[in-house]
Amino acid sequence: MSAFPPSPSRVAVVVEAPQHSGLWGALDYSCEQALTPGTLVRVPLGRRVVTGVVWQAGADTAEGEVGEHELKAVIEVLDGLPPLPEAWRQLVKFASAYYHRSLGEMALMVLPPELRQLDALQWGRRLKRLDKALSAAPAAPQEAALPALTEQQTQALAELAQPGDKPFLLWGSTGSGKTEVYLRQAQRALDEGRQVLMMVPEINLTPQLEARVAERFAGRRIVSLHSGLTPAQRLRNWLMAHYGHADLILGTRLSVFTPLPRLGLIVVDEEHDPSYKQQDGARYSARDLAVYRARLEKVPVILGSATPSLESWYNALPESEGGAGRYVRLAMPARVGDGDMPRVRVLDLSRAPKLPRGQEPPPVARELLAAITQRIEQGEQSLVLLNRRGYAPVLHCSDCGWKSGCPHCSAWRVFHKVDRTLRCHHCGFTERVPRACPDCGNTDIHPVGRGTERLEEQLAEALPGARIGRIDADVTKHKGALEERLADVHAGEVDVLVGTQMVAKGHDFRRITLVAAVNPDSALFASDFRAAERQFALLLQAAGRAGRDADVAGHSEMWVQTWHPTHPLYQALSRYDYADFAAQQLKEREMAGLPPYASLAMLRAEAKTQEAAVAFLNAAVEAVAHLAEELGGITLYPPVPTPVQRVANVERAQLMIESPLRPALQRFLSQSQAVWLALAQKNRRSGLIRWAVDVDPLSI
Ligand code: ADP
Ligand code: ZN
Ligand code: ZN
Repeated sequence: MSAFPPSPSRVAVVVEAPQHSGLWGALDYSCEQALTPGTLVRVPLGRRVVTGVVWQAGADTAEGEVGEHELKAVIEVLDGLPPLPEAWRQLVKFASAYYHRSLGEMALMVLPPELRQLDALQWGRRLKRLDKALSAAPAAPQEAALPALTEQQTQALAELAQPGDKPFLLWGSTGSGKTEVYLRQAQRALDEGRQVLMMVPEINLTPQLEARVAERFAGRRIVSLHSGLTPAQRLRNWLMAHYGHADLILGTRLSVFTPLPRLGLIVVDEEHDPSYKQQDGARYSARDLAVYRARLEKVPVILGSATPSLESWYNALPESEGGAGRYVRLAMPARVGDGDMPRVRVLDLSRAPKLPRGQEPPPVARELLAAITQRIEQGEQSLVLLNRRGYAPVLHCSDCGWKSGCPHCSAWRVFHKVDRTLRCHHCGFTERVPRACPDCGNTDIHPVGRGTERLEEQLAEALPGARIGRIDADVTKHKGALEERLADVHAGEVDVLVGTQMVAKGHDFRRITLVAAVNPDSALFASDFRAAERQFALLLQAAGRAGRDADVAGHSEMWVQTWHPTHPLYQALSRYDYADFAAQQLKEREMAGLPPYASLAMLRAEAKTQEAAVAFLNAAVEAVAHLAEELGGITLYPPVPTPVQRVANVERAQLMIESPLRPALQRFLSQSQAVWLALAQKNRRSGLIRWAVDVDPLSI
């Protein structure tokens, strides 16, 4: 609390200050003119001049420790930009509090990078240049020809029209016409003069949706917001949204923070996708913030998925069925038209003929190879899914046992045959493959295991004459490469497409009639409790790539090569029974006290040594043990190394904090924050590099 009475010349400004500075709220400055909260200003901070957001004006502030006589003056005001609205500030404030990051970091992080760098003069010039784009009159909306709705779409839209304040979970099979429902609901909002925010998990998926939205809403102003735009494009699109000029905003997770004066609807497509969670810095979930924002701004929100996250599923499950009953569930089980989902064939690898010792099994079993061959003969396409890129995950010397480890990480370096490199997928360290074993000189070092690159090569050998294509992060690094490869598939120039999870998402393949997952078992025994959920979603989504045309749907197949054919995950998949799978998982989660039955947070530490990381975490536990005790219902687990414990020579450890009650966990984290900050300051010289709290962590 400030010791000084509020004065009109005093403004509280949030600025981006490093986490360790301990500055959590706003700083006070003096200003000649009266400023509206939400105005952007340039202020002195130490020896720098930085951009900040006026948080409060003429009132005392959260920090308020600065004496009146020391008050520094606001240097300039970024005129011409309408103040960021109250709702925006409220969202940022909530995110800052919930994810336990400073207000300044949150507020500045979610603004377009250019906006943070410009001074008033540059800003004025930029605005002038953008003026035309920003004020151009939109073309008249045009009537698009609409398909007749299916019965289940009609039903879903009828429920969406009901007034209410619960979020909607649109649970529809791939190809059930969810997008059509989004578009119809968007039309309603647009007709009322409102803006629509549509979110997708990945940049790769924005062009597709953009094309579809542009076709439907010709004449409307549509902008996209994602990290693939140039800074100038991003600023322009953001301004179009903020000024209220843009009608539809399509974006990835960062778009959830876009100020929208006429917001009327939020859509979160593929709501289960982990990409909605930011994985570094302020680790926010855009899906969860979308739900918060919708309630805050009193607009409907639709979360859509064929395989909802268990959190959303549980929220949408009626209380009578053991759920939370917080969301309205809209089910669309059937695909549009006659297109059934492909028949699932679980291929039991344990029944394959035994191989001589030391001989590697072929990438696809005989029956599967025959099935693919048949598809090729019929002029149809197959998709072979392997969620591991590169040629082989490790190189090995059978003489001395050397393996291609990364010198900087506790991980193997992956062999990439195209450029004969060993690459670390964690730190990026890359070297040419050695001619001989670096330890013993043996020239016979060989790949172990299989990635997409090798699978492509082996399939080409096994299927002479077939045209094999590949899509993964390695071959689509360059701009336009993904589009090119997809175009080849669509043009029928590929018989068998090898790919990672990248191809499983969203793409509308018309001639693929067979999808095969060749190595899906690893997820069954992973230590991460969400691995099964993710795998189920991936397999179901992959299956959704097959038989998208009614005339091929009838004989489409999804193959699963497994050593565990009776595993309940595959059993549920065979019946496309997500509800059954979710019920299995929920039962396990409830027994283990895991989300959605409990709330988790992870305290993560990075240090020069593993001992330093663990020592900090141990001290952190000790320092707040009494708080946990007082609040009750808080469990602090012992610190452990992260699954990959060393990356780029930095050692990482973490400790899990669990509570059956979200508010208790939140209170605990809020109170612990200051204690941990002080502790980290004290530990500066012990080798601790950084630490952070991850609320609702996605990977453990
Ligand atoms: P989802 O988003 O659930 O995967 P889409 O909305 O992409 O499904 O619909 C799948 C396909 O069916 C698309 O080609 C779409 O144009 C078409 N479609 C959707 N709704 C209808 C409808 N009511 N009548 C005819 N075709 C439709
Ligand atoms: Zn060797
Ligand atoms: Zn590495």
